[in-house]
Amino acid sequence: MNPHSDCSLDKFLLSGLEEIDSRGLMRRLSALDGPQQTRVIQNGRELLNFSSNDYLGLATHPALKTAAMAEWERSGFGSGASRLICGTLAAHEELDNAIAEFKQTPAALSFSSGYAAAMGTIPAICGTGDVIILDKLSHACLVDASRLSGALLRVFPHNDLCKLESHLKWAAAKHPAAKILVIAESVYSMDGDRAPLREMVELKERYGAWFFLDEAHAVGVIGRQGRGLADEEGIADHIEIQMGTLGKALGSHGAYIAGGSALRRFLINRARSFIFSTSPPAPVAAASRKAIEIAASPEGDSLRAKLWENIQRLQPLLSIKAAASAILPVLIGNESAAVETSARLLELGFLVPAIRFPTVAKGSARLRVTLTASHARSDIESLARALHGSTATKQDSPPHLARSTGEPSLPTAG
Ligand SMILES: *Cc1c(COP(=O)(O)O)cnc(C)c1O
Repeated sequence: MNPHSDCSLDKFLLSGLEEIDSRGLMRRLSALDGPQQTRVIQNGRELLNFSSNDYLGLATHPALKTAAMAEWERSGFGSGASRLICGTLAAHEELDNAIAEFKQTPAALSFSSGYAAAMGTIPAICGTGDVIILDKLSHACLVDASRLSGALLRVFPHNDLCKLESHLKWAAAKHPAAKILVIAESVYSMDGDRAPLREMVELKERYGAWFFLDEAHAVGVIGRQGRGLADEEGIADHIEIQMGTLGKALGSHGAYIAGGSALRRFLINRARSFIFSTSPPAPVAAASRKAIEIAASPEGDSLRAKLWENIQRLQPLLSIKAAASAILPVLIGNESAAVETSARLLELGFLVPAIRFPTVAKGSARLRVTLTASHARSDIESLARALHGSTATKQDSPPHLARSTGEPSLPTAG
């Protein structure tokens, strides 16, 4: 019997899909015909891309290609094994060292992805009997990793320092022997706002906790040479575990944990996603290192200046007062309305994804507009016109363009 016609699994899958569809939550993949850039081809049509995390436009930078190809000649493609077996090539060590130098930490360890970095690191640090306190809008990988750790979890409303403090107070009093780990992002991936890092550092130090900070959307974009928000706020030395990704503003793939040298050595021994997984291809590591070099160079400074100029150009057109990052969410609310607006924009030639449950809370569906250094002024102005037209057809009142606020439930997936 053909196992694919086995009806019990298919019955389960199809009824699950039907339920997803009936709630307006069906997701589908759609491939681009060509590279990740401002103008992309999808299903034979050219679209203006406002959905990429390639904030500096490095994904198609010729220097990354050259670095990857040279590394290919030196080391081949596949790495052949995990880092601890024989899959640590020169390119991996060079990347780890470059990250540490860039982040100005004693050491760093690269991972295959941000998801893997979180899943390997958080359960290596905390376990049963420990306490993890995280922001309600934390990325799914931070939530999943915290759950996997077996630690007691406490969630504070987004950026709510009072509630963070009350969780810290509770943990210090009720679990005096526990390790306490505060987890937050510097820039929130679906809201684009920033965490109050100075105040958070002050609190975690007052209560003897450690801080795990995910800088996925800040690295390359914020801080001196693009080192992130902790650098901009001058408190990087106070953050024990700094995570960042290489696949967003850095235009490559992978992620890192930066911190002390004992942290690096400990993760090499305890981070299961690092230990039990084939190391990334050496050309990818070489491209990442080149991207860091560019981000930290005068060229990086001018790309960041261009990106921030673009952000400042779009924000008044969306009635946003002070955008904190390259992510500018347009809150719609209803899931189907968000999907319809995104579909209308697609018809007009704009790629702007609708983000909905379970990535964000139910009823807080939104368009997630992201900008890059490669967008032209005319691109931004035409998006703003299309957006106003598309959301206005839905309602009589002016389009509801607002920053989203705190949301009621823990996200369950990315
Ligand atoms: C994208 C993202 C990750 C995951 O990184 P990948 O390298 O894509 O796996 C982790 N945290 C945040 C906040 C992110 O936005």
